Amino acid sequence: MTILRIDKSRWTEGLDRARQAYALVGPAPDGEVPGFRELKESEYPIMDGGQTRLSPKGVVFPASQVMMTCSLKEGDPKKDIYEAVEIDTRPRAVVGIRPNDAKALQLVRLNFDTDEYKDPYVVEAYEACTWIGLAVQAPSAMDFSTSCGTGPFDESCLDVMLVDDGEYYLARVLTDKGAVWAKAAGFETPAEDGADALIAEMKKTAEEAITSSMAWNRIQDGAVLDIYGADHWEKTTFACINCGTCTYACPTCWCFDIQDEVHNETGYRIRNWDSCMTSLFTRHGSGHNPRETPMQRTRQRFMHKLKYFPDKYGQGIMCVGCGRCIEQCPAGIDIRDVCNTMNSQA
Ligand code: SF4
Ligand code: SF4
Repeated sequence: MTILRIDKSRWTEGLDRARQAYALVGPAPDGEVPGFRELKESEYPIMDGGQTRLSPKGVVFPASQVMMTCSLKEGDPKKDIYEAVEIDTRPRAVVGIRPNDAKALQLVRLNFDTDEYKDPYVVEAYEACTWIGLAVQAPSAMDFSTSCGTGPFDESCLDVMLVDDGEYYLARVLTDKGAVWAKAAGFETPAEDGADALIAEMKKTAEEAITSSMAWNRIQDGAVLDIYGADHWEKTTFACINCGTCTYACPTCWCFDIQDEVHNETGYRIRNWDSCMTSLFTRHGSGHNPRETPMQRTRQRFMHKLKYFPDKYGQGIMCVGCGRCIEQCPAGIDIRDVCNTMNSQA
């Protein structure tokens, strides 16, 4: 594995050089609500180490995505026949993603890339990306990523991991894809001896700075119906107003709805993010709703993340400990508290 030394005075020059082969995606300079998007010429990713308010899941799973279109024009031989839209498979360099957010996108992909079904919209978008992560050197008080099978220096879902070392980045090139991007950017200067040890030391310091945690060992081993039927749920979920903010902010939530819309003489089949926290999400055409009450919906969110998902895929919980849902919940619901309660009663 190669470690490169990137002088920050050459950083934007390298990003521009790589733009000849890659669309540049990163934390965007969008004022108070930064999120990830494709950056225009002369825009560069924010690399201040802060967490974006919105997660980067839209890079592979957009909030609203046209999947198919059809003509509604009278006399058109293809009238009313839906056709898939062309999928954007341009190579994208996603620069500045946090290691646990990169892990989250891999968890999202699990749902769309199974033996039974491969969703080309998500899978091809994911494959088009080269993930250039930025290690988190100053985790916030809300960060509990190390409880979730990831962490501030988790390399497992990255192609390159950047570590900020003052006037330069140390870039650990982890995959062939990462090497191709580094070459396209002209980043080829090897780091000095000792860079590996320095990164290991920074990793240790960052992990030790995380004091927040949650336990899910007993949930993992417990019986589904016992955890589902535990008597704490009314109390645990009482404050939730089912606003859905947590699900939209979360990098691992992937509930969606598909709608048909008409604009002029074209029909559009669109996939939009939805939320398991809303009553409409599960209401049947008959009017019956299997998750009628707020408690049932809130319980579903936590059961899915902490029990159903790990049981189904065997790849840990559907949470990467980013803390966005805790920071943004208007009712003070904290997944760490809920998880610890579930765990203690499992
Ligand atoms: S847990 Fe909080 S953010 Fe999520 S739906 Fe309930 S009130 Fe809204
Ligand atoms: S901390 Fe909350 S927002 Fe972040 S991954 Fe876990 S459930 Fe999602």
